[in-house]
Amino acid sequence: MRLNGATAWITGAGRGIGRAIALRLAAEGATVGLTARSESELREVAEEVAKARGRAIVAPADVTMPEEVERAFRAVVDDAQRLDILVNNAGIGVFAPVTKLSLEDFDRMWSVNVRGVFLCTRLAVPIMEQQRSGTIVNISSLAGKNAFINGSGYAATKWALNGFTNCLRLEVRSSEVRVITVGPGSVATEFSSTTKDPAKLARILQPDDVASAVVAAISLPANAMMSEIDLRPTNP
Ligand code: NDP
Repeated sequence: MRLNGATAWITGAGRGIGRAIALRLAAEGATVGLTARSESELREVAEEVAKARGRAIVAPADVTMPEEVERAFRAVVDDAQRLDILVNNAGIGVFAPVTKLSLEDFDRMWSVNVRGVFLCTRLAVPIMEQQRSGTIVNISSLAGKNAFINGSGYAATKWALNGFTNCLRLEVRSSEVRVITVGPGSVATEFSSTTKDPAKLARILQPDDVASAVVAAISLPANAMMSEIDLRPTNP
């Protein structure tokens, strides 16, 4: 139990990668604050955490809405009056050629993938700076470094997220706060239903692989920061 006594806030925790990260952090002893829009999914994750004798706080919010984000943040930090880990994981992807990508989908991706991270981060940083400890993990993507067809809108948000994360790291490191970028390739979730072939699905990354990388980075001694993780399937 490497995270006993820690409080963690995970966005997009209702399914996929966020769910896996929440379950792993809870298994390591952290109290996990769970945020997403679908409260029913968050409740299912909280039940799984409770079954494993962990502690979860259900804190539904749309990460693009400042008042909802603030309410969720308060619910998570209320008990312990601390926040040790923020995982900015909520994200969406719409993949289409530039001429076919709607303005609405383009804006929605920016709202969740960039504005949402900004809104959660600006609440987490002051409390972490005051504690003089904390770790912020931003779930980016290999699409934030590599070009691919139909990815222009999504990739732009993840390149932007990487820029945001790199600047934030410089801002807060003197307060002993670590900022980590995790950039996975394709992960087998509802998000990337790129293949239905079971053999291929078994070879690509699983949500728990991303969770393992997050736990490994967080578990380093507080003076050591694994600032950037590129996570690929070994044999795609
Ligand atoms: P899923 O679609 O499986 O899960 C996304 C989660 O984010 C859900 O819990 C969803 O809940 C939540 N979410 C979406 N929009 C909002 C919002 N406006 N406010 C709050 N929560 C929201 O996606 P993945 O688990 O696959 O993806 C998680 C992250 O990993 C994303 O940032 C994605 O870009 C990144 N990623 C994914 C890869 C993949 O191949 N799957 C590869 C590389 C990176 P709800 O809809 O109820 O709000």
